Amino acid sequence: MTIDRFPRDLGHEVTSRSLAIRFGYNQRALQDIHVHKKNNSSPKPVLLIVLDGIRPDVLRAAIRDGDAPALGFLAESGEAIWDGTSVFPSITPAATAAIATGEPPSESGILGHAWYDREEERVVVYGAMRDTVISTGPVKVFHNNVWRMNRDDLSAPTLFEKLDERGIDGACVNFPVRRGPHEHPVRVRSVERYKRFTNRSELLGASVGGPKEYYMGDLFYSRDTGLHGRTGVGGLRRSVGINDAYAAGVGAMLLAEKAAPFTLVYFFKGDSITHHKGLAAQRRHVTVLDQYVEDMFDAAGGPEKALEDYAVLALSDHGHTPLLPNRRRFVRLGRILGEGASAGSRVRFGPGLEIVVVPNGRSALLYFEEGVEREKVVTTVLARRGVDLAAWSKDGWGVVRRLGRELRFRPADTVGDGPRDAAGRAWDLFGDPRALEIEVSDGGIGYGEYPDALERLWGCLRSPRCGDVVLSATPGYTFGEVSGNFHEQSDHGSLHASDSNIFVLASGVPAPHRLTDVVPTLLDHFGPGAETAETGT
Ligand SMILES: [Zn+2]
Repeated sequence: MTIDRFPRDLGHEVTSRSLAIRFGYNQRALQDIHVHKKNNSSPKPVLLIVLDGIRPDVLRAAIRDGDAPALGFLAESGEAIWDGTSVFPSITPAATAAIATGEPPSESGILGHAWYDREEERVVVYGAMRDTVISTGPVKVFHNNVWRMNRDDLSAPTLFEKLDERGIDGACVNFPVRRGPHEHPVRVRSVERYKRFTNRSELLGASVGGPKEYYMGDLFYSRDTGLHGRTGVGGLRRSVGINDAYAAGVGAMLLAEKAAPFTLVYFFKGDSITHHKGLAAQRRHVTVLDQYVEDMFDAAGGPEKALEDYAVLALSDHGHTPLLPNRRRFVRLGRILGEGASAGSRVRFGPGLEIVVVPNGRSALLYFEEGVEREKVVTTVLARRGVDLAAWSKDGWGVVRRLGRELRFRPADTVGDGPRDAAGRAWDLFGDPRALEIEVSDGGIGYGEYPDALERLWGCLRSPRCGDVVLSATPGYTFGEVSGNFHEQSDHGSLHASDSNIFVLASGVPAPHRLTDVVPTLLDHFGPGAETAETGT
């Protein structure tokens, strides 16, 4: 192999060995790089698979037992990370926004299932449990989830938008955060079904902005695939045909066609199964998910061919924590905080109401009217069973309190200051690091039960949308939802490792450790774009 066969921009010193490390490619893939670069074509197309709520230990057990051969093949062929981290709150809208934008909730603007909009004086609900949807109003939630979240509340550009700037098209199946430059008309018949139940049809817009190819059940489809979701009565998603089998079918079609350089396929069912039936059910469901992945690989010519032709990234967005079997699992914050506090989808500040509580599963956002004493509220809630820690921001610092210990933290301004986390960021710390089970040694920060806690808290507390105090629940407990209901078996949202750790399997791209690293990793993979690449060769 002579040096001049390498792409010029990689430099003459680069050996095949260092290339393999740099890109994580095997030798076969390396040959492909030559072919691609020689033909002046783009980097490998990317398939990004998001499996909502699947815990790393659960997937690992399934792979070990031979129940997830496709994902096992991906893990073996590439890189596998079992202690990656979600954002805080570790909850789907915040986590999927982090995947799509590369930003934590403070920058993406998406904090959780629900938050209180001080300007509009109301709780914004993106939808979660069926009760929440019903208490908020199905059309309202539908509007918030499909239109408002992407269009109005998402404050950072998406990967679809960034790639489009580089001339790279995207495809998206069912993923909730999908803003992009291409307009997609809502397919009328599915909305007609909603209009029949409501006179709020003004809430449902005529189109949304998305990537070039956008599929979401019977609601949006760029082309008629013949793969419409199986519609049915009941849940919000089912009534517009949004389901995992559909996602796998459309995903397979897009791969068989090589429809787009970047394809994102999202599977949500594993999360809802776990909420209702627990981790053993999740373990069984991984087999189903693996079959979907295999279907998509087969459509690309089989697992080997799929990984030859595509860079593949598969990851979860958050974990899950089993709940106590009795009703004590529900920490009723509205009641604990007493008169003057209220949790609900329709609450707003006014006479007699000075604390708005917005539960988000195993996390909760508290909003204060002027004059509310933070110290008093924090002392009250931390005395209660099930409330693990409270955090807030004050004078440019993050503050966290747990077990009577308090730690103040903020990123260190100057290089070399403060102990560093694994990602290399230096932090100013004051107080007791044991508040977050942090160990500082040799200038490094070691985490225990609260992985990547400083970065993740910082990525929440800076947002005015997160309120005045954020709570994280003790394992076994949940704050429930704005409807006042709570899950049966399992929930997530907290800062604790069980909700926070994710798996990342990667082939053809380096495996990112944080959800917020997915976008930079993929932008790096695609490079500066077609035009620049042409001038460079
Ligand atoms: Zn969930």
